[in-house]
Amino acid sequence: MSHLSPLLKQSSRVCADHGQGSWLYDTDGKAYLDFTSGIGVTSTGHCHPTVVAAAQEQVGKMIHAQYTTVTHRPMLELTDRLVEKMPAGLDSIALSNSGSEAVETAMRLARHATRRANIIVFNGGFHGRTMGAASLTTSGTKVRTGFHPMMAGVVVAPYPHSWRYGWSEEQTTEFCLRELDHILKTQTAPDDTAAILIEPVQGEYGYYPANTAFMQGLAERCKQHGILLICDEIQAGYGRTGKFWSHQHFDVQPDILITAKGLASGFPLSAIAASAELMAKGAPGSQGGTYGANAVSCAAALATLKVIEQENLIENAAARGTELWDQLHALQSDYPIISTIRGKGLMLGMEIGKGPNQPMPDVALRLTEAAEAQGLLLLRCGIDGQIVRWLPPLVVTAEEITDAVGRFAKALAEVQP
Ligand code: PMP
Repeated sequence: MSHLSPLLKQSSRVCADHGQGSWLYDTDGKAYLDFTSGIGVTSTGHCHPTVVAAAQEQVGKMIHAQYTTVTHRPMLELTDRLVEKMPAGLDSIALSNSGSEAVETAMRLARHATRRANIIVFNGGFHGRTMGAASLTTSGTKVRTGFHPMMAGVVVAPYPHSWRYGWSEEQTTEFCLRELDHILKTQTAPDDTAAILIEPVQGEYGYYPANTAFMQGLAERCKQHGILLICDEIQAGYGRTGKFWSHQHFDVQPDILITAKGLASGFPLSAIAASAELMAKGAPGSQGGTYGANAVSCAAALATLKVIEQENLIENAAARGTELWDQLHALQSDYPIISTIRGKGLMLGMEIGKGPNQPMPDVALRLTEAAEAQGLLLLRCGIDGQIVRWLPPLVVTAEEITDAVGRFAKALAEVQP
């Protein structure tokens, strides 16, 4: 009997032993193409030599230099390098360990800075599992059921899920912005609204990109009412969608940007960025914790950025993403249980079912199990687990994309002969 708590349920049966690039090997030596990337974390692949070397060097030098006691060079260098990647004006960085922590940091800063309490979030958003972050999350009831009451001050607005509504993108966007205006008149007046928090490409709910008209509509309302626009780039950022940040697809500028996952290639690290002026409105010492900005994580993050640049990983994500998109669409013509494919870059979701109202989560589960047997690791997402999601590392090669789709085709043939 395993002593590992079932609270931490695994989606596969694999006991992982080691990893290299896009490949993960189990304790029996079986190789898997890892198209989960540790839920979008191993951006530079498993154990990239540059990241490994940087981490090893830092481990021998200093591991924990507690960042509310002292500063340290890897952290200071990282904040400098991160600011170069941020939208103009977001020149101050606060680091923490996990995505949820960073979301909470952003929320608390927004409340301090505006002296307003409420946060508008979007239906289907996922922002984490801690109580504050879970209160902002509506991607499914799993992170909320049985945990109520949630934090007060959260208002949920519709996200442009045009496929689910069965409307055009334009109609859906108009509806969503109209509803948002209605919410600002009925549920949370602008003067009570600290922030609008959004995933520019929704992750856990089902790999739904927003669109330019919608994102710009949010930005306009934020500007008009002094509300902060917060982009949660934890899953979709750091190159995953073929641009450094996913909001860059929509030509908007957030006031606070949240990042984690791909930031340090697997070492725990997260960050928020805002202008120094905005950061100064938070109370000094009001945030942070014991472990934030670990020196090894920061060294790994610096190496990650170096690899992203030296190996042109953003361009690779865009090019490989197009190949994956095309190859998955080619499968769709043979297998009608693939009802739609969405997403951007190396963040693609494949709905299994007969249209939006007849999801087939049991088939999606059998597909990911059959893919696992074929040596391809995939995750599912969506309310019912009806979506097969594709998120290979940014270092994935064209050959590996074709190899993975070939393995998936075998799984499809097995599940839907
Ligand atoms: N926001 C988004 C968009 C995420 O995808 C996640 C994790 N899946 C989180 C927040 C929470 O991050 P963590 O699990 O590191 O707390």
